[in-house]
Amino acid sequence: MLQDIKELTKDQLILWLEDRSIKSYRAKQILMWIYLRQADTFEVMTDVGKDIRKCLARHFSIKRLEKERTEISQDGSKKFLFKLIDGKYVESVLIPEKNHYTLCISSQVQGCLFCLTAKGGFIRNLTKGEIIAQVRDVANDIGGSKRLTNIVMMGMGEPLANLSNVVGAVATITDSDAGLGFSSRRVTVSTSGLIPKLSQLGRETAVNLAISLNATDNKTRDMLMPVNRKYPLEKLLDACARYPLVARRRITFEYIIIKGVNDSEEDAKRLARLLRPIRAKVNLIPFNTFEGSDFERPEEHVILTFKEILNNNNYTAVIRHSKGQDISAACGQLSANLMRDA
Ligand code: SAH
Repeated sequence: MLQDIKELTKDQLILWLEDRSIKSYRAKQILMWIYLRQADTFEVMTDVGKDIRKCLARHFSIKRLEKERTEISQDGSKKFLFKLIDGKYVESVLIPEKNHYTLCISSQVQGCLFCLTAKGGFIRNLTKGEIIAQVRDVANDIGGSKRLTNIVMMGMGEPLANLSNVVGAVATITDSDAGLGFSSRRVTVSTSGLIPKLSQLGRETAVNLAISLNATDNKTRDMLMPVNRKYPLEKLLDACARYPLVARRRITFEYIIIKGVNDSEEDAKRLARLLRPIRAKVNLIPFNTFEGSDFERPEEHVILTFKEILNNNNYTAVIRHSKGQDISAACGQLSANLMRDA
């Protein structure tokens, strides 16, 4: 089977071309066709010599993900179920905002106790090309005047457990010269907190960092997120304090607020204290319930009080009601239906 050309970095493509005595500037031309002009074949790359195009077509493919199913929510979010070449599935969610779109993409399949996505168990890492393809294919799909400007890696999987592919994909997604051209200010990688990988993400990319915190003490976090047993709260926050943040940026802490588990006023105060050494902001996500879940969403006034305590401690805290709940596209719900069907 031919290799998907999106798996190559620009430098690797340059080397490949040079090995065949083809000038390196051709790499940029080829990549611009793929990412800027969304070319599906080498044949259409008319400013690249015919022999070079033929040679490329003998060695590489320009794959798209197979769109198995799309679902549209009442709130306008659109969930894509993609079938990968080995028959596995991955989901991406396109979220309409006021003036732009945000796309939530996946990095692998794996997860936490309370997260329905995780119930399918770990399957495998996505390749660099598969991560890029979610963005490239959905961008190609969007009509109308609203543009896709923001990417969040908050879909299925733990990006830092697949860091080299994630870093490679981010390089192409944010390359304004010969890639997809997203501003790294508008790309966010969310992690459950794999401490040893954090600084590498900070060194090798300039994306925004989001941490799924979800608790303010180890006992609760251990219960919600098994990863905490290995990388406990105080060590995680310490690593965040040392994270090589881009100037004027803040780390986003995601906090799913669950009834009777982590929603007390003490939790809110403790959270404010814990975050003090860090340039931080907080996204409060009311828990999205699902069939068979042991957890519930707190009442609205509890969520508001939690937010106000953070605000009174000078934190930006925003309540994020996930979109796309009716089509299982909200946080923690990806791949849920599929797993149930299977
Ligand atoms: N593994 C990464 C990327 C996934 S992000 C990470 O943990 O950050 C998915 C986000 O959805 C996480 O912040 C997670 O805490 C949240 N989430 C999972 N299940 C949820 C649910 N049922 N309701 C609300 N948020 C949920």
